Amino acid sequence: MRVFNFAAGPAALPLEVLERARDELVDWNHGGMSVMEISHRSKAFMDVAARAEADLRELLGVPSHYKVLFLQGGASAQFSFVPMNLTAQGANVDYIDTGHWSKKAIREAQRYCRVHIAGDSGAAYTSVPAQAELSFSKDAEYVHYTPNETIGGVEFPYVPRTGGAPLVADMSSNILSQQIDVTKFGLIYAGAQKNIGPAGLVVVIVREDLIGHARPGTPTVFDYRAVAAEGSMLNTPPTFAWYMAGLVFQWLKARGGLAAIAQANRLKAELLYAAIDGSGSFRNAVAQDARSRMNVTFSSTRPELDAEFLREAEGAGLKNLKGHKAAGGMRASIYNSMPIEGVAALVEFMREFERKHG
Ligand SMILES: *Cc1c(COP(=O)(O)O)cnc(C)c1O
Repeated sequence: MRVFNFAAGPAALPLEVLERARDELVDWNHGGMSVMEISHRSKAFMDVAARAEADLRELLGVPSHYKVLFLQGGASAQFSFVPMNLTAQGANVDYIDTGHWSKKAIREAQRYCRVHIAGDSGAAYTSVPAQAELSFSKDAEYVHYTPNETIGGVEFPYVPRTGGAPLVADMSSNILSQQIDVTKFGLIYAGAQKNIGPAGLVVVIVREDLIGHARPGTPTVFDYRAVAAEGSMLNTPPTFAWYMAGLVFQWLKARGGLAAIAQANRLKAELLYAAIDGSGSFRNAVAQDARSRMNVTFSSTRPELDAEFLREAEGAGLKNLKGHKAAGGMRASIYNSMPIEGVAALVEFMREFERKHG
């Protein structure tokens, strides 16, 4: 029996995608083998890879002067491979600090560059700086930010304008959740395990002119130019994860693409935040205009009830609602794959919990 899985990542995948993968698992494409068991250089797999890239390009509207790379190492590897590929030793770079993942990216970048904090959201990390509050260095090689902070549940309602430097975005937890204008970005990266597919894959979308400047010593398999030249098949890619990502892209297209999924995501988030705001028992600490549509953080107004809430929710088939250990409380991750029925069930459960314990 399937439950409603609110995990932050690895996160729930669309049931239709899992069922299709199951049906094809041992005999894919009538070849008598699993897609996991065939060469990444075979025509059959090359077609899978090419279709996944084409579908991703179509969904996001990626222009032809951007490369799409399928890499390994997770989003965390990009924390170092972005500075290694885009800058020389000692370069100046700007980072916006809005929470846990920004901080991790900053710490890693400090090993390679001089990092200037162009804006932050204060110690509580419950808001994002406004455009007018951002102050960029004149000679920054790029500006990095985290459009959606997965742990704090804080999301930018706007795309920062940098005044020239390429904008780099860690979109791990909100890629494909709404339409974006890719041309506003120099580089986008996203670990797969939130909104794309299983863990093991990270997608990098990078403007062509930013490629080819890797520092000496950059591992070849993480040099964007080398990877791009080989169609992300410099060595064996995570073929099954790539295949699964392709199925998710097809699922998104069948659902009407990003305009349709954005509408669904908006409705889900509104439903949940309205339930939190309208209750006397739960609260969300994030500024209204910076509330994440993907990761909804909340806690009991009587903190001693958090553990009981989580216990009863598990029993009701509402799984993985525990907040990150750094944040406490609860977090409902409601990525593309979470149906509105899951959010409705959570809201109903919250009402029932309040009646019982309020
Ligand atoms: C999950 C997450 C990461 C880390 O991803 P890994 O693939 O585990 O390295 C980085 N940034 C954001 C915004 C995330 O949500």
